[in-house]
Formats: sequence, C-alpha cells, structure tokens
Amino acid sequence: MSLDAPSLHARPSDDFEAKLAHTTAVLSSAAVEHGTGIVQTSSLGAEDMVITDLIARWHLPVGIATLDTGMLHAETRAMLARIEAHYGLQVQVMHPQREAVLHFVARNGERAMYSSIALRKACCALRKLEPLGRLLEGKSAWITGLRREQSGARVAVPFSEHDSEGRLKLNPLSDWTWGDVWHYIASNGVPYNPLHDHFFPSIGCAPCTRAIALGEDFRAGRWWWEDEAAKECGLHVQHQSEGLAA
Ligand code: SF4
Repeated sequence: MSLDAPSLHARPSDDFEAKLAHTTAVLSSAAVEHGTGIVQTSSLGAEDMVITDLIARWHLPVGIATLDTGMLHAETRAMLARIEAHYGLQVQVMHPQREAVLHFVARNGERAMYSSIALRKACCALRKLEPLGRLLEGKSAWITGLRREQSGARVAVPFSEHDSEGRLKLNPLSDWTWGDVWHYIASNGVPYNPLHDHFFPSIGCAPCTRAIALGEDFRAGRWWWEDEAAKECGLHVQHQSEGLAA
C-alpha cells in the first residue's frame, strides 16, 4: 500500500462540500472587490496549493507570490516550475535584501537561528518579514493558507481579519481539516511538495524544518528546539512587532 501523503491523509469532513463552496465564494468575491490589490502569499505547501488551484480553476485575477528566504529546500523551490507547468501561472518571488543577509551571517554565523530565539526571530525578520512587507506595499488584501487546526496558536484563526497595516487578510481555509486539504489535492490532481510524502506537514526553511513522528503535533517539526509558545516567525502574529513566517 502506498504511503504517500494523499493516501495517508485524504479524509474529507462530512461538510467538506460546504466548506469548499464557502472558500470558493470568499476567493471569488475578494478578487472582484480588490482587483489587482489582492495577492496570495504562498508557502508552496499543501494548503497554499489548494488555494492556487482554486485561483487557477476559476480563472481568478489574483497574483500568487512567495518568499524565497535563500534557505528553502530544493523540493520547495522546484514547486515554482511545477506551478508554471501545471497552471501556466508565474509565481512572483520575493527575496531578502542581499546586503542585510550577508551582514547578518557575517556577524552571527550560518547557524545563528539555533543560538537564541532573538537571533532566530532576527533571521525571520530579515528573510521573511521585510520581503513580505515589500510584497504587500500598495496591496489592500492578501490570502493565506492558515488553518485553525495547525496549532494551538492558530486555533482562533478567522476567515478574515485586518493586519497591523489595516489590510484585509483572508484565511479561506480556516475551518478546513488536514483531511480536507488532502482530499481536495487527491481529487483534483493538485501538484504538491514531495516533502509532504516524507512526514513534513509544515514546510519552511531547511534549517528550521524537520519531519515529524507519528503522533507529534502538526508544527512539531518547525523550530523544534524552541518552546511551543515561540513557534511563529512573525508572518502571522498579530499585535507583535516581529509577527510573520509560514
Ligand atoms: S525559518 Fe529559520 S532560516 Fe528561515 S528565516 Fe526563520 S530562522 Fe531564518
């Protein structure tokens, strides 16, 4: 029996079709309302591929963008070409400022993220938060793949909220389960990061992501050396100055 991610996880909720209809309606109306002012910020992980598939399937005029921190797995970076080949869509890639990265590494070393939470957050700030800020300049709305089920810190993720700059932030998969995500992927032939087949449910930068063991928490493989409470990079932390990481 195959042990790939769709085989292991595709288990739709009883109300999956209603959730899908709601997500599609949210994306469609946001595209109409915000026009070129809306962007999908994709980590290229499973949830974000569901959203990209819906954007492509319904020909929604929503740009797709990602952050290449310079520390991604090759499998993650390869998703860019796979999205283009599968959907004919180009993903906008945002990079950190080269000088800032060189300065940080020269001063703190390549493995600074393991030294302290402060240095880990500083690395996230320059490799993720700063490019995200530039990406969102002039935008009125952005779309994420956040789900309530992903972690205790995300249990209250709403379908929509406003970020610290007043932009609309849509989380249209907020109520989807992991089983719903994989049911959609399996049913629609959505391309996905092969790391998901190797027990990486949540995929970030290579030095900060590991596979999880059976029974471990969904985000146990992210910043696993830190306390649970610190496990966000700031990309999605409201009301915190550091707040942003997939
Ligand atoms: S996830 Fe790790 S490597 Fe990536 S930006 Fe944050 S600290 Fe740096």
